[in-house]
Amino acid sequence: MKRLPIRFKITLWFTVALTIVVFFTCFIVLMVNHQVIQKTIRDNLVVTVEDNVDEVEFRTSIDHVDLPNETDYFIIFRGGYLEIDDDFMDQVNEVYTALYYADKTLIYGENPISSKASHLEFIDSKIQRITVNHTSYYIFDRKLTLEGLEGLWLRGIVSENQGKTQISDIIKFSLLLLPFLVFVSAIGGYLLAKKMLRPIQMISESASKFGTGGELKQRIAIGEGKDELHQLAESFNGMFERLEEAFETERQFTSDASHELRTPVSVIMAQCEFSLEEPRSDEEYERALQTIQRQCRKMSKLINDMLDFTRLEMSADSYIREQIDLSELVQSVCFDMALIQENGIALESEIEHDIVFQGNRQLLSRLLTNLITNAYRYGKADGHIVVRLKQREGEVELSVSDDGIGIAPEEQKKIFQRFYQADNSHSGIGTGLGLSMVNEIVKFHGGRIQVESELGKGSSFLVYFGMSVELP
Ligand code: ADP
Repeated sequence: MKRLPIRFKITLWFTVALTIVVFFTCFIVLMVNHQVIQKTIRDNLVVTVEDNVDEVEFRTSIDHVDLPNETDYFIIFRGGYLEIDDDFMDQVNEVYTALYYADKTLIYGENPISSKASHLEFIDSKIQRITVNHTSYYIFDRKLTLEGLEGLWLRGIVSENQGKTQISDIIKFSLLLLPFLVFVSAIGGYLLAKKMLRPIQMISESASKFGTGGELKQRIAIGEGKDELHQLAESFNGMFERLEEAFETERQFTSDASHELRTPVSVIMAQCEFSLEEPRSDEEYERALQTIQRQCRKMSKLINDMLDFTRLEMSADSYIREQIDLSELVQSVCFDMALIQENGIALESEIEHDIVFQGNRQLLSRLLTNLITNAYRYGKADGHIVVRLKQREGEVELSVSDDGIGIAPEEQKKIFQRFYQADNSHSGIGTGLGLSMVNEIVKFHGGRIQVESELGKGSSFLVYFGMSVELP
């Protein structure tokens, strides 16, 4: 059962349920029908006998009757005559009526079980039941009370089986028809289930094709609609889109990373070949080793940056956000970074006190370090760096400004891309990952970043964090 396709299971359940419902309904209908028929038979019996009561009369003389043309029936009775009207129904709708003396001697009429029912006493106006040869009969007696008819009884008899033939015909017909109807509806149900489950099949086909042989453009097309299956297809398409984006980013990242690593590796290879080609002077060996060391440092930084970046992008959950004193954190990073004093550049800070923020200490200090490092790196000799932290209108603003070389307007957006280095960068110094890491950290904290810069005048990086940020 577990291995059967869903459409079979649905059809099977549907057919079983339908069969049970149909048979149960038929059973109830037949039961009710039986009760109704039995009541109708009894009512019919009573009405027929009651009607016949008025059709029997006693006459002292029949001299005035034109016997040859008379349709009524006359029986000599107690010095007079019994007149049985021609409307007397001795057999109608399988109801038999007969006229009796009180000792059960038959005077007129018909009774199919006359001898078998002879022991049954007359009871006025009451239906009795008797079974003869496995057949049940209803019997209804009526005492005649009109003048001259004293001591006479009318007895009506009807078989309980009357009407049963019709019912058994209906049952036979139903038993033949129902399996056919169930079969037809099972086929219909199967086709319907197949049609309705078709989108699921398409979703499953698309999902299994997605990603095979680099196929990332695969989408589910099940047409217009708003039902659950269309919503499911939409969710899947959304997921495919995100996966495609993630795959693309991943692919780009790998290609950029290998590209970036290729340069230092080539330089190292060249230096090694140069040193091993022929004997060199001590200074040449030293220079070659210094170059190799520089390139190794660069590679090591690049690898570390990539690992940090990937960790933040792929498993942001591993960074916990907690209540931190941002003022104190910024103060301490500025204190450490001010010690660099590269190129005679001075670092100043304007920090508002007691700004508390929900964030990750390690990431926020990395963000600030990256921005200050860039400000030193792209600053002018004897220049200034100013770090500001303030709180206003439910936002925290952290800015790092320098009076360095500045960034061209067309490059200001691109500098946040991974491995991007603007023309102003002194090639070989950075890795091009610093600002994209900053951008990821800002995103992680639900904030935003913007840059204001003018070539030759300096740059300001402004980071805004909402104060009411939900904890992840
Ligand atoms: P890099 O390792 O090259 O510094 P980043 O991602 O930190 O990489 O920065 C990307 C580019 O943005 C840099 O190569 C540089 O051209 C430009 N840049 C970043 N910060 C500044 C700044 N304070 N002043 C001028 N240019 C900057």
